[in-house]
Amino acid sequence: MPSADVLECPPVQTSAPVLESYPARQATLPGELTVRRALPRSARRMVGPWCFLDHYGPIAFGTEKPMAIGPHPHIGLQTVTWLLEGEVLHRDSLGNEQLIRPGQLNLMTAASGIAHAEETPTRNSGRLHGVQLWVALPDAHRRGAPSFHHYAELPVAALGGAQAVVFLGELDGTRSPATAYSRMVGADIVARNDGDVDLRLDPAFEYALYVIEGNVALGARPLDPSTLHYLGTGRHGVTLTARTGSRLTLLGGEPFGERILMWWNFVARAPGEIAEARNDWERGNRFGSVVSAEERIPAPPLSLHVQR
Ligand code: MN
Repeated sequence: MPSADVLECPPVQTSAPVLESYPARQATLPGELTVRRALPRSARRMVGPWCFLDHYGPIAFGTEKPMAIGPHPHIGLQTVTWLLEGEVLHRDSLGNEQLIRPGQLNLMTAASGIAHAEETPTRNSGRLHGVQLWVALPDAHRRGAPSFHHYAELPVAALGGAQAVVFLGELDGTRSPATAYSRMVGADIVARNDGDVDLRLDPAFEYALYVIEGNVALGARPLDPSTLHYLGTGRHGVTLTARTGSRLTLLGGEPFGERILMWWNFVARAPGEIAEARNDWERGNRFGSVVSAEERIPAPPLSLHVQR
C-alpha cells in the first residue's frame, strides 16, 4: 500500500442506525493483482476494529501466479485471509508455512512485528477470489509477541434462508475459535435460497456489509456490490432480502475507542513508531526473514504528514 502520507483514523462516535454507502476504490498490489479497497475510505476509515478490506477476483489464470506478494512487515494489527475460491500459500518470519483454501482462516497477529509473504502455490486450481482484512489491535495488546494460526473449520450460524461462517468474533451466540482482542464480528454470509436473511445484531456494535456477489437488498434499497454499506450502531437486527447464491461479508464491532495511524502495512499511534518500524524493516532488524521466491518489498518513502 504505497501511500506516502500517514492516515489518521480517529474514533468516530456513531449513536444511531444509518445506511451510508461507500464505493470501493481500485488499487494494485505488489505482483500486479488488482483489488477493490473498501476500507479505509476517506469518509469511513474503520468499522469497529476493522481498518482494511481488500476484495480480489474472481479471476481465472494459467501458468502465472496472480498472488505474488513478497516478504513485507506488519505491526499493530491482525491480518485475516479469507478465500472464496483458489489457494494462497502463507509464509512468515516465525517459520510458518500454510496453504489456505476456501472456508478456512489464516489469522496473523503482527503485534510488535512480523513479516510474511503470500503467493499463489505452484499446484493450484487456476482460480482466485478472496478478501484480505486487517484488524487494529487495542493499545493493551499491540506490543506483544507476534503469532500465526490457521483454522481449518469454523462455526456456522443459521440465518433463515442463509448461513454465516463466523471467522472472527461472535454473531448471535456463534463464536469463532480464533483469538480476537476486541468485541467484534467478521462473517461470510451465503444465501441458500431466495428470501429473507435475518441478522440478529448487537446494538453496541457498529456494522458494515460488503456484497461480494449476487443481489442483496436492505428494505427497498439494493446494496450495490463492491461497496461498503455502513449500518451505524443501535441495531438489534436487520432483515435482508437476497437471491440464491448471493454472498456478503459482515464486519462489526464496538466502535474502536482509540485514534490510530495507518501507514503502508503498519498500524500505530504516533508517527515516530512508524518511522522506527520503517527503519527496522529497511535495515533488516526486528522483523526476521521469510523464505520466499518473491522479492522482499522495500518500504515506500515516508512522509510524516498526517492526512486527517
Ligand atoms: Mn501482509
